[in-house]
Amino acid sequence: LAVTDFERGLLSVVIPCYNEVTVLPLLEERLRSALESLGMPWEVVFVDDGSADGSYERLAALHAQDPRFKIVRFSRNFGHQAAIAAGLSWARGEVVGILDADLQDPPELLSACLQHWREGDQVVYCQREGRQEGALMRWLYATFYRLLRVSAEVTMPLDAGDFCLMDRRVVDVINRMPEHRVFVRGLRAWAGFRQRALAYARPARAAGQTKYGFRQLLSLAGNGLFSFTLLPLRLAIWLGLLLILAGGAWGAFVLAWRVLGFRAFGLTASQLPGWTGFVLLLILFGSVQLLLLGVLGEYVGRIYEETKRRPRWVIEAAHGFERESEALPGPSLPTSRAAGPRP
Ligand code: UDP
Ligand code: MG
Repeated sequence: LAVTDFERGLLSVVIPCYNEVTVLPLLEERLRSALESLGMPWEVVFVDDGSADGSYERLAALHAQDPRFKIVRFSRNFGHQAAIAAGLSWARGEVVGILDADLQDPPELLSACLQHWREGDQVVYCQREGRQEGALMRWLYATFYRLLRVSAEVTMPLDAGDFCLMDRRVVDVINRMPEHRVFVRGLRAWAGFRQRALAYARPARAAGQTKYGFRQLLSLAGNGLFSFTLLPLRLAIWLGLLLILAGGAWGAFVLAWRVLGFRAFGLTASQLPGWTGFVLLLILFGSVQLLLLGVLGEYVGRIYEETKRRPRWVIEAAHGFERESEALPGPSLPTSRAAGPRP
């Protein structure tokens, strides 16, 4: 792989941000003190995911005050994962961290991550030690990650979100994946290299509200599952085989019952009204078929999405980037300040 130009020794921190104006003052303060204590040059790449609450204006003001805070603004809300992917493609550091804006990923942990990176780990991902959510959600999370672990051909760490620190080489691998529905933690695992987990207790959101309702979580889980494994398709084969076996045995029995005329369940086959049985079988096969059709549709839809080749996001404005980083390869449209091709 050709390595894009990056700045040796620079730490980039990518932060997706969607309507976070209430938490920004806290975040700025914590970030600044955590980053200053690292004793290395740093930049923060904020990706404003189409905020409508004044977050962008506040971030732009922050950039004006300290140009190490850089801002990329999407033209609308493209989603958390897209925002991270865009941030990764704009980051110039030799080492790149990803944090949420709401301080659930404490910036102070970056120093421990950097330590591991200096010792030769190319990915340090932070793994949640306990979840704050209720028992049902915890069970759902655990099942999801375990399902991915057994079915995806890459080992996906349990309970690891996007909070991590990655070496430039890993970031370059991720930047070269053109897929539309990104699942950053999956791509990160796919990339390989030396990876290490760092356990931490995930605090609650510092301010503001979560943007991940049940629907968004479900869609994220769907992305993880459908873009990393063919298990749902294979399930159809196994289910089909199972039904062939069970159905074959039942069919043979029914045939013998009818032809040989013996009594079973107190009846001969010709005396049997059998309506209930038919209804149940119809429902069973009808629903299994529709379900599997839906699974098929999910994959076809993804193929369709990729074939349209739309850009993955549209950038409305960018603050603080050098001319050569503006015209990055990748699916973003040119920004207002973008100039010709890279030298
Ligand atoms: N976020 C985003 N775009 C969205 C939704 C969320 O950029 O459409 C950002 C959000 O600002 C935050 C991070 O993604 O920095 C995680 O979101 P949130 O804290 O709401 O998710 P949770 O931690 O509750 O899963
Ligand atoms: Mg959060």
